[in-house]
Amino acid sequence: MSTVSISCCEDYDLVKVSLAARRCLDLIGNVADLVKPGMKVLLKVNLLSAALGPEYAVNTHPSVIRALVDIFQKDYGCEVYIGDSCGSLRTGSTYQAFRVTQIDKIARETGAIIVNFDKDESLDIFNDNGAILKSFKIAKTVKSVDMVVSVPKLKTHGLTRYTGAIKNMFGAIPANGKKNVHLIAPKPKLMAQALVDVYQMVQPHITIMDGIIGMEGNGPNAGDPRKVGVVIASYDGVALDAVASSIIGFNPITVPIIKYAYERELGTADINNINVVGEEIDRVSVPDFKKPSSSAQDFASRYIPNFILAKLFDNSCSSVSSIYEANCTRCYECIRNCPAKAMSAPNGMVIVDEDACIGCFCCDEVCNYKAIVMKRTLFGRVFLRMAEFLGVERTKE
Ligand code: SF4
Ligand code: SF4
Repeated sequence: MSTVSISCCEDYDLVKVSLAARRCLDLIGNVADLVKPGMKVLLKVNLLSAALGPEYAVNTHPSVIRALVDIFQKDYGCEVYIGDSCGSLRTGSTYQAFRVTQIDKIARETGAIIVNFDKDESLDIFNDNGAILKSFKIAKTVKSVDMVVSVPKLKTHGLTRYTGAIKNMFGAIPANGKKNVHLIAPKPKLMAQALVDVYQMVQPHITIMDGIIGMEGNGPNAGDPRKVGVVIASYDGVALDAVASSIIGFNPITVPIIKYAYERELGTADINNINVVGEEIDRVSVPDFKKPSSSAQDFASRYIPNFILAKLFDNSCSSVSSIYEANCTRCYECIRNCPAKAMSAPNGMVIVDEDACIGCFCCDEVCNYKAIVMKRTLFGRVFLRMAEFLGVERTKE
């Protein structure tokens, strides 16, 4: 039976975070048997934004990263690496993300080694059993270290509904590789399978989630910070995602990435078969945590047979990007990141070719000004209203 530990943590005071993280690791058990002095430990953090500071709750918070660096260096005598590839494709954006997340400062103070996955040597990964991805490239450090500790942020996600342990490992793929995956898997359920393909091949040894201030609404970049007040840890990232998503009011098995990972036996998503230690889920849950507005698509999937839905979803219920001009600063980050080349700015203002848009949310992920609106079709809007009316999902436009 998988164990998931939950520790309460009121804020990002380093002493409190360190206590919560240590307690979580103690509670999952056997960490001292697994982690030996001299081991190379990679903290795979979540650095989506190269521009937004810790107060926006987009990236893993620097206090959580600092606490874990100290724990693995001082308690276990390890050599610590901190790595990721950020969401933006702009040259230098991952370095910038290390700066806004204060990881460069943490590295200077502690001697931890920063690994920019975009600049790292790449390694080919082959997976004959992959549902979507039979091969892809990852940053070589992910496989060359002795241990990978995934440090995701607890957030909603417009495309996948929820993002946590499973999705965090997508960042093992350097910049352009991620763009290619969006082109190969342009629909939400295909993307969910592709994310599970990646997770299958780069499963971390331990996952420790920053759930102190999460992101609700239209995450992972354009939502709002919301206190949840927890640190969560597990050897089983799927079980951790099941618990974390339950805390914020999802039924885990309705979240495609969790469902697929469970079906593919990469971990358990059955809450009744997870040994939850530390705090109880009910005691820390935030059931009115706002869901992404795209949740209507999944709501519809519970009531419409798949053979009908396949057409309706793909043609009528998926989202397309549009621009909220009042917020747009014309930074063109979205255009650089659009894998389908559906965005342009012929007269200065960004326009979207709706026929070319694949609804991948990549523009939404990198826009730091809440200027991207993922529009639903009439069909999607009807289901959203039904979901809200029935109280099945509380969404935020
Ligand atoms: S929509 Fe956002 S990312 Fe795109 S140009 Fe405007 S501000 Fe920049
Ligand atoms: S416009 Fe946005 S949602 Fe549409 S394909 Fe481009 S990045 Fe993806």
